[in-house]
Amino acid sequence: MERMLLLRYGEINLKGLNKHYFVDTLLANVRNALKGFEHVKLNKIQSRITVEKYRDEDEPSIIEALRKIFGIVYITKCVKTELDMDLIKDAALEVIRDLRGETFKVEATRGNKKFYLESPQIAREVGAHILRNGIPLKVDVHHPDILITVEIRDMAYIDYESVRGEAGLPLGTGGRGAVMLSGGIDSPVAAYMLARRGMKVTGIHFHSYPFTSLNAQDKVVELAGKLAGYNDGMQVVMISLTKIQQEIIRNCNETYLTVILRRFMIRCAQQYCLKHGIACLITGESLGQVASQTVESITCTNAASVLPIFRPLIGMDKNEIVSIAKHIDTYDISIRPYEDCCTIFVPKHPQIRPVLEKVLREEEKLPNAQEMIDEAVDTAEIVTV
Ligand code: ATP
Ligand code: MG
Repeated sequence: MERMLLLRYGEINLKGLNKHYFVDTLLANVRNALKGFEHVKLNKIQSRITVEKYRDEDEPSIIEALRKIFGIVYITKCVKTELDMDLIKDAALEVIRDLRGETFKVEATRGNKKFYLESPQIAREVGAHILRNGIPLKVDVHHPDILITVEIRDMAYIDYESVRGEAGLPLGTGGRGAVMLSGGIDSPVAAYMLARRGMKVTGIHFHSYPFTSLNAQDKVVELAGKLAGYNDGMQVVMISLTKIQQEIIRNCNETYLTVILRRFMIRCAQQYCLKHGIACLITGESLGQVASQTVESITCTNAASVLPIFRPLIGMDKNEIVSIAKHIDTYDISIRPYEDCCTIFVPKHPQIRPVLEKVLREEEKLPNAQEMIDEAVDTAEIVTV
């Protein structure tokens, strides 16, 4: 009897001819995540990946690592035996001893039709063997606490416990994007949501050092550390907006400060992306959350970009965003106080419904805009987590 894990994927099964590309990427990501564990052997078998040969004591840590791999819907613990009813019965008995619950049910599926018993008979015999051996459990066929599934294939697989995975699509199958990471609650969640669709993300953070402290940057690096667990590491590009911000304040109408600043962020981020083969921008905007997140403000910031800007949180409520932030363990970091370059020079009465033509007219007061953007992007610092 040998302990092993079955990794089941969901949406990947809906893929057509390119399914193998998604499965192979998932397999490579699993291999990478488990490279620190000795003896692990991976295999692809019909619509699942198997993890075998690891040391039993590594199983909990291996499962923890697999829970962050996008594309896996369930991680199922199981044991494998030869196709022999005595071995199958004993294996089922051994695993059920360690499980907690009051009721159980045994199910069987027989993919391998050469096996001499039919599914209901397999289930009945295994169930009877468990009861005969003094395990203090009752049978409940409707809502059992413990479900044992015997799968008859090339070998017998006895599944006894499943843990939910992250689902989504394998990292690397969705291209590359740059998430604008502020240090708040929303942007890390936005990054996670697109990484979960297979997109490898890079962080871009804008600061106004020395008007914003280095702590604010450290906080962003810490957030990136949490995201790195899902994203196979993470780079954060630190861009200084200090000069641009001072020029805007000196030259432009105060009520347009926020929207102009945000347009500059987009332009700097875009310039970085175009240079580094990154295909889109990602923000944590949610409709109506603050003045800069009305449809009119978003129209103005959008117009600064030729790259698509993805806003995965646009239709979500704050409490929904918070619950994801807690799930990915960024919430406690995000709520620590910090200064954001957007919040240190907030106008008293920002334009809630800015009009693009007026914004463009204000920006004409900054003739050296492109030069300032070049300088900001060229002097960016890159932190690798
Ligand atoms: P968050 O919780 O992510 O900070 P927020 O609710 O504070 O968002 P805004 O300050 O309006 O909202 O920012 C909206 C989005 O703009 C952020 O989610 C982020 O993607 C981007 N952003 C804002 N400030 C910065 C910054 N200093 N550096 C990088 N991106 C930023
Ligand atoms: Mg913010």
